Amino acid sequence: MSGPNTDYDPVEVAAVSPAELEAARDAALAAIAAAADLEQLKAVRTEHAGDRSALALANREIGALPPQARKEAGQRVGQARGAVSKALTARQEVLEAEHEARILVEEAVDVTLPTDAEPVGARHPLTTGAELIADIFVAMGWEVAEGPVIEAEWLNFDALNLGPDHPARTMQDTFWTEPADHHVVLRTHTSPVQARTMLTRTPPIYVVCPGRVFRTDEYDATHSPMFHQVEGLAIDEGISMAHLKGTLDHFASQMFGEGITTRFRPSYFPFTEPSAEVDLVCFVCRGVDSDQCRTCRGEGWIEWGGCGIVNPRVLQACGVDSERYSGFAFGMGIDRTLMFRHGLEDLRTLFEGDVRFTTAFGSEL
Ligand SMILES: [Zn+2]
Repeated sequence: MSGPNTDYDPVEVAAVSPAELEAARDAALAAIAAAADLEQLKAVRTEHAGDRSALALANREIGALPPQARKEAGQRVGQARGAVSKALTARQEVLEAEHEARILVEEAVDVTLPTDAEPVGARHPLTTGAELIADIFVAMGWEVAEGPVIEAEWLNFDALNLGPDHPARTMQDTFWTEPADHHVVLRTHTSPVQARTMLTRTPPIYVVCPGRVFRTDEYDATHSPMFHQVEGLAIDEGISMAHLKGTLDHFASQMFGEGITTRFRPSYFPFTEPSAEVDLVCFVCRGVDSDQCRTCRGEGWIEWGGCGIVNPRVLQACGVDSERYSGFAFGMGIDRTLMFRHGLEDLRTLFEGDVRFTTAFGSEL
């Protein structure tokens, strides 16, 4: 029969032997030092200082030792566990400090960096388009003239040979201002600027007048109650239809490209005699294989505007000596011209202020 284990040598208990404890401690310290971040340190803590770690096992073994061996074994185990615990705390502090420093760097905002929070806009294509047209004429020595959009009825109609009973007067659906007996309208064309110019200047006169005009039209893909016209007027001695044709051919080629010319078709306007519709060689197909062309729809020509030799009655109404001077005038829609030039399907895109449209076309001209 055996007695109590009074002679038990603690060195023989493997888990608490100095060599085993030293190995377990060194493995723990090496793993702690190698932990690169807090996540890895957490795993190291579980493995080397958790309930199932070698040091925890050794701690539990102490209770099984004979009383005289417990104190010494307890000290060894305690020192090893203390060293590991201290190393864990120290490494934890280092890694937390590194983590905070990294967040400060990674999430730092440099308020001095350039930003695109306010994108650069573009001028509206109607503005740049009207300026391009004006530039073409200024290069020929013409002047740019402007007039009010709220206009006297007489200047909008009567001065231009559109008397009160003239049928053409009802052709232009007019916005009248109140009260009606003041005879003030929103101008239906830019032609009153011509009348104003002739009334205040003496020939020779070469002016081009871009501007807004108003008619009581529906608002749809091809109509608008407000649109833009450009009008030209030349008054000088010996002005003929040939000058008009040459001027418009030059205008067309500058606007749409070399080789784009015009043709005239007989027409009627009260303020010119003779009068003509102006067509433009289709600048897409140039009249070749036009059957396939969507722009001119097989015509080879595109309607562009109206023109003619200024009616002598208009010259007389505006105080110009019609025996000595003659002149020509023409007018076309700026909106329509830009629609051709940019291939726009819908007139309304010009008026609805969408910055995507403005940015795309506004910096092109
Ligand atoms: Zn065509």
